Amino acid sequence: MSVSQIPPNGRTDLAAALGLPAFAPGWVWLAGAGPGDPGLITVLGAHAIQSADVILYDALIDTALLKLARPGAEQIYAGKRAGVKSCRQSDISRTLVSLAKKGKRVLRLKGGDPFVFGRGGEEALALARAQVPFRIVPGVTAGIGGLAYAGIPVTNRDTNHAVTFLTGHGADGKLPDFDWDALSKGSPTLVLFMARRNAGAIAQKLIAAGRAPDEPAAIVSDAARTQQSVIETTLAALGAAAAESNAPAIIVIGENVRLRQGLDWLGAMAGKALDPWPLGRESLSDAG
Ligand code: SAH
Repeated sequence: MSVSQIPPNGRTDLAAALGLPAFAPGWVWLAGAGPGDPGLITVLGAHAIQSADVILYDALIDTALLKLARPGAEQIYAGKRAGVKSCRQSDISRTLVSLAKKGKRVLRLKGGDPFVFGRGGEEALALARAQVPFRIVPGVTAGIGGLAYAGIPVTNRDTNHAVTFLTGHGADGKLPDFDWDALSKGSPTLVLFMARRNAGAIAQKLIAAGRAPDEPAAIVSDAARTQQSVIETTLAALGAAAAESNAPAIIVIGENVRLRQGLDWLGAMAGKALDPWPLGRESLSDAG
């Protein structure tokens, strides 16, 4: 490993230092804000906030990020939360198109990553159909970064070589029609978005397809926010545990959840003792 020495240059303009693209009038940028902690936005995302004329933002973003906006930039709340009356998708897309056609720099700021269960693809297609130029700025998804804030690695050599992301909430609001046998056999770890309400049904389907009722699972609510809470449970008890709150949650099912005993770094900051061998001493963790 070599570490190159870069002399400090006192430059604070990140956009110039990194050669970031200019946000041109008449464009829409669809950017991810990360899962919660405002520090998890990308540099390109922060640059977009600083440059935008209009920002349409989601319910799931930390509004501290809006403090980066230019004075006078218009800020429009365009949130959607399950069970809460909110903006229609078609209205949001129409607003993006009409603002861009007026020559504004339009930022659509979404929680997590815009292309992960975020309807970013739908909004971008509406722009493409209206011939509005757009850029996608990826973000840290709650399904990976939110788990990291709970001390749960989304993959690990000892526990899972694959992971499946799924939503508990299809376009019609119902549990999508998955091939439960295939999911149960083929995916050692499952990461569930928007699945609080259907968590019990999902657990039942997985158990019926052969997963162990005592398999570890965790519910990470308000991940990467100050009020983050994590419940460690089992597949059999998942439905009841998920019903305890209605805060946004990522649910993870799989042996990788056990690693939290050694990796709950936020807990450690609050004085919790970590177990550096959460899978026992035979695990690969120390091998080359
Ligand atoms: N594009 C987002 C997901 C949007 S779907 C992303 O990449 O993270 C909305 C769902 O994401 C929520 O219902 C919840 O399941 C999950 N989610 C988003 N932010 C979260 C957070 N901070 N904590 C827990 N779950 C979160």
